[in-house]
Amino acid sequence: MGDILVLNAGSSSVKFALFGADGSEITSGAAAEIGSEAASLRIGDTTLCPALPDHRAAMGAILAALAARGVQVSDLSAAAHRVVHGGPDLTRPSRVTPATLSRIAACSPLAPLHNPHNLAAIMAVAAVAPGLPQTVSFDTAFHATAPDEAQRYALPPEAETLGLRRYGFHGISYSGLVRDLPALSGRPLPRRLLACHLGNGASLCAIVDGCSVATTMGYSPLDGLTMGTRAGGIDGNAVLRLAGEVGIDRASRILNHESGLLGLSGIGSDMRALDASDAPEAAFAIRHFCYWTLRHAGSMISAMQGIDSIAFTGGIGENSANVRAYILRGLGWTGLSADMAANDRNALALHRDGSDVTAWVVPAREEATIAREARRVLVHSDPEEETDP
Ligand code: ADP
Repeated sequence: MGDILVLNAGSSSVKFALFGADGSEITSGAAAEIGSEAASLRIGDTTLCPALPDHRAAMGAILAALAARGVQVSDLSAAAHRVVHGGPDLTRPSRVTPATLSRIAACSPLAPLHNPHNLAAIMAVAAVAPGLPQTVSFDTAFHATAPDEAQRYALPPEAETLGLRRYGFHGISYSGLVRDLPALSGRPLPRRLLACHLGNGASLCAIVDGCSVATTMGYSPLDGLTMGTRAGGIDGNAVLRLAGEVGIDRASRILNHESGLLGLSGIGSDMRALDASDAPEAAFAIRHFCYWTLRHAGSMISAMQGIDSIAFTGGIGENSANVRAYILRGLGWTGLSADMAANDRNALALHRDGSDVTAWVVPAREEATIAREARRVLVHSDPEEETDP
């Protein structure tokens, strides 16, 4: 089998990473500011400035940049896409077929800011590299194992038929963590694992025997923890009032892009800047982030009827000793005895010998997980089903 090109498309960007047959990353980069005069393409340490009027031009430029480094389309086994929303039915990584495409398109009302761009990237690959197999991994899929009572809002059928359910996100990160933790820790996967993906977007996942039983994000990635710019959990009536006062578009902008650490601190959404600041507003924003992480952790631990291990991942989870220290201390009641010196060093294991609960730092490797899932799909899927979009 050849290389796998992993693609993560947004409205004006396409991030990519190339993985070799042995699963190691060969190179990575991103096309940015697609559709603007300031468009750029970074590959490794090199930044180019080609014209990128649309996703199709961006895909052409990415493939040309790889070819200039000796990787031809014929060296690739597949383009593997991260797709944000798979809805209730797309719960496994799959090969791209006309049927998968129309099902992803059908999920667009659930993720209007994401799925259309994922589809645009798939169509762009089909246009510039026809014949290259494509696969999709869904960020919602890992949570399909949660029980119905965890997934449903207490809403009548009228709302349920609109697809208003708790789907959860960061699933690619969590499935990678479940796979990587045993190898990193040298121990079997803990039975009841509280996984904390703390980055610009932040969520918790209750994982029992490797399967999600509960998570903090819901219908969209807005729910749950305080995040970089998202409000996290907020009363539906407060949302209705805000939308009534300022309009739906402005309310959406406030809740998704101007709240969270940014909204509370007035300084920014970057945890590094808040950690470094002396301003009381920065300290309050960090406290709010940690407090609500702990509050939701209690809910996840109840869903698992206890806890054997906690794992931190994501930019904040992997790097902010300050945030982790607050959470580790706050979970002392579970029987976790934390090694604060190890925490300060960003060590792999954060618990003391003899602690009832173990604690780990696990690097998020979402692209590597997508590449691995693509290989599995290519090996196991029926070639008869393969049809170019
Ligand atoms: P995304 O959700 O966009 O993938 P990341 O997982 O990259 O985000 O996380 C970004 C967050 O991680 C930012 O808030 C950033 O400040 C934080 N972060 C990265 N490195 C550090 C660090 N050394 N100390 C504290 N926070 C960090």
